[in-house]
Amino acid sequence: MESLPKEIVNECLETVENIEERVQDLIKEREAFVCYNSKNNKGTLRCDEESVSGSVSQRACVYCGARVVLNPITDAYHIVHGPIGCASYTWDIRGSLSSGEEVYRNSFSTDLRETDVIFGGEKKLIAAIDEIVEKYKPKVIFIYSTCIVGVIGDDTDAVCKMAEKKHNIRVIPVKSPGFAGHKSMGYKAACNAIINLMGEEKSNQKLNGINYLGDFNLAGEVWIINNYLKRIGVDIIAKITGDSTCREIMEAPKAKLNIVQCAGSMAYLAKRMEELYGMPFLKISFFGVEDTKISLMQIADAFGDETIKERAKELIYKEEEKVEKELNYYRGRLKGKKAAIYVGGGFKAISLIKQFKDLGIKTVMVGTQTGKAEDYDIIRSIAEEGTVVLDDANPAELEKFMLEKGADILVGGVKERPLAYKLGVAFCDHNHERKHALCGFEGAVNFAKEIDLTVNSPVWKYV
Ligand code: SF4
Repeated sequence: MESLPKEIVNECLETVENIEERVQDLIKEREAFVCYNSKNNKGTLRCDEESVSGSVSQRACVYCGARVVLNPITDAYHIVHGPIGCASYTWDIRGSLSSGEEVYRNSFSTDLRETDVIFGGEKKLIAAIDEIVEKYKPKVIFIYSTCIVGVIGDDTDAVCKMAEKKHNIRVIPVKSPGFAGHKSMGYKAACNAIINLMGEEKSNQKLNGINYLGDFNLAGEVWIINNYLKRIGVDIIAKITGDSTCREIMEAPKAKLNIVQCAGSMAYLAKRMEELYGMPFLKISFFGVEDTKISLMQIADAFGDETIKERAKELIYKEEEKVEKELNYYRGRLKGKKAAIYVGGGFKAISLIKQFKDLGIKTVMVGTQTGKAEDYDIIRSIAEEGTVVLDDANPAELEKFMLEKGADILVGGVKERPLAYKLGVAFCDHNHERKHALCGFEGAVNFAKEIDLTVNSPVWKYV
């Protein structure tokens, strides 16, 4: 490969020097949210709290959290009650795949302006619902409250109730003013909207299957897991919410068991369903070979059926055999690299540490936006001595610890990508911009391949 012109190399070197200068110490109030992992220091890491004011958290707003959860319902209509800017947070940047309807890829907004802030936006919302009903004949509409609606105090509950009566369809309010907290509160608002759709009545009719919670089918993951479960003889009643429909979500209370992939967004829903319908739940993870194997056996055990258990063992044996050779190839290429992880929820972070370990990669920094105390306990028990563990980080902290620990790759979401590239570090999107399914046995190979492609790219020699 030809070398880069001298001016570009100098410019890059200057940028790296500037970055090193820019890295400052932690903000005092943030110190308790960060630690170096140590067996001798088991003190608690602060987490699951409001972000420190002025720390420039990587967390998204309440409305964005709600949208992440509800948008993948393929046949629902979504009206964003707020200024047009909020509506830009849509399928285009939070993609998920559908095997049927494509309605969810559209976004509708009430486009609130200054006069609506003064005189109220309820009339506009009523008009928007009427227009959508007339043009598209929807069965379910979700109405999202945004910051401005929280400020002007539109009564969206009353508007939704009136619209339900008038049109004889479900019109469900999602209480998600952006400033009311952070992404986790949006997850909760979305879960409450899902309960509203299901109804609080316990059904006497039981179906012999499970609900799969917290997979948004970003690159076809739901289809992979559905296929595994079918092969072992377990049916999915409702997928919540990747590639789901309103009808199947309404059937969910009849299932036997909930399995929860993304606990950050769906543990609340699983707990509510346990209270309302007496439905037990299992936290599982299909990221990485080890966790996929454990999860399949946990599901088979929950059914207590010997045939299902035997089929699960057989599937694990066959699938593991298929991927072992390829994984060995990548293990050879990745051994000794150092990884930094910054993702949404704790369960994903735990699986990623295990996946990296399996590939011979050391995790030097790990953090989450919405991890809970129990997630951090597990993270600290499996992370190596000296690994930086941090909750609700900001870009300056991510920079500081990645440079300090000499990370070769950062795994994160769309907001972390530019940071990695500016530091001249490889990046893997494990969030909504991923293009290949990263779950199950085939997902483990896709993940290793992606890490190899980025971390061993020749481009890093030049920055
Ligand atoms: S913070 Fe407020 S204005 Fe911004 S996207 Fe969220 S709801 Fe909309």
